[in-house]
Amino acid sequence: MNNPTLWIVVGIVVALAVVGVLWLTRRRKVPAVPSETPHATMPEPGAVGTVAPTSEPEHPASRMTRLRRRLASSQNGLARALADLLSADRLDAATWEGFETTLLAADLGVGPTTELVSALRAKLGIEGTADPKQARQALHDELLELVGPSMDRALHLDHAAGVPAVVLVVGVNGTGKTTTVGKLARILLSEGKTVLLGAADTFRAAASEQLSTWGSRAGVETVTGAEGADPASVAYQTVERGIAQGVDAVLIDTAGRLHTKVGLMDELGKVKRVIEKLAPLAEVLLVIDATTGQNGLAQARVFAEVVDVTGLVLTKLDGSAKGGIVVAVQRELGVPVKLVGLGEGLDDLAPFDPEQFVAGLLGE
Ligand code: GDP
Repeated sequence: MNNPTLWIVVGIVVALAVVGVLWLTRRRKVPAVPSETPHATMPEPGAVGTVAPTSEPEHPASRMTRLRRRLASSQNGLARALADLLSADRLDAATWEGFETTLLAADLGVGPTTELVSALRAKLGIEGTADPKQARQALHDELLELVGPSMDRALHLDHAAGVPAVVLVVGVNGTGKTTTVGKLARILLSEGKTVLLGAADTFRAAASEQLSTWGSRAGVETVTGAEGADPASVAYQTVERGIAQGVDAVLIDTAGRLHTKVGLMDELGKVKRVIEKLAPLAEVLLVIDATTGQNGLAQARVFAEVVDVTGLVLTKLDGSAKGGIVVAVQRELGVPVKLVGLGEGLDDLAPFDPEQFVAGLLGE
């Protein structure tokens, strides 16, 4: 092959092939931007984000099943302690002691740990040969009792005609409030409700934008205010608009600055008062990051002291959280866990189901 024309033709063909392959590869990569990537631009003050519902929401019942599977297969501290106890040949003093230590390390809290251990020791005998089946059943029953199977965990969003049910979402920054509002909107939409969001966290410029983005993903509108605006006025405007639009539920995201307890009380107290001029507060949900353990619990307590919390949302239960925190937060705050966050996606929020939770912990 020493014909120069032939070489030129071969060269052009090879170059075209290379360009073609490169072009195809780039085209494939472009749509791979995850739908979860924030894309909203900063909304104008008082703006209402547009709506473009994404895919069909996952049915709430199957969400908790996902948590159960995740807990069962995870390195969850409590699950491991329970498995160790169940697999012990003999229940001797050392086994019980080890069990107790692991329960404490799993964020169960001192009170519930003592109760669980003494109830189990009474049922299974202080020492002796463990019957795995009996031990499993006893553990299941006692754990369920601790989690509280008869607590009212429903979201009470009944409302009078023309007045929306207002849900105030509070908690320390970074716990997952904004994310939870977006996910909750989607659950409510899947139940056929109409929803409006309000971005009353006006302290961080990004907060309103973030909520609007979640709102767009869920397919609902978001009312926002200017950075530094009075959170109470944004809350008021949102409820006002919710009434005008005749929506079923208004979800209000708040700032979680723990400056001073008095400051927080003034701020949330004002938000609550102005909302109540227009509509009763249906729920006040306190969001707690499950991975922050006892420390997060101490911070959350301040919020419970300044507003009447009606339900807890425990987020990040998918990660390195220790399952015991569910029992500890309810015990400490005297309020049921109503929802759990299972991940960063739009469908990763589930109504909390004690049976499924305990089954997951026991690897059932
Ligand atoms: P806010 O400051 O309380 O509003 O918290 P954000 O909603 O901004 O959430 C803080 C971070 O926690 C974000 O990176 C979220 O993606 C993440 N997050 C929220 N909920 C969950 C959850 O249930 N699981 C996991 N793994 N991450 C979560």
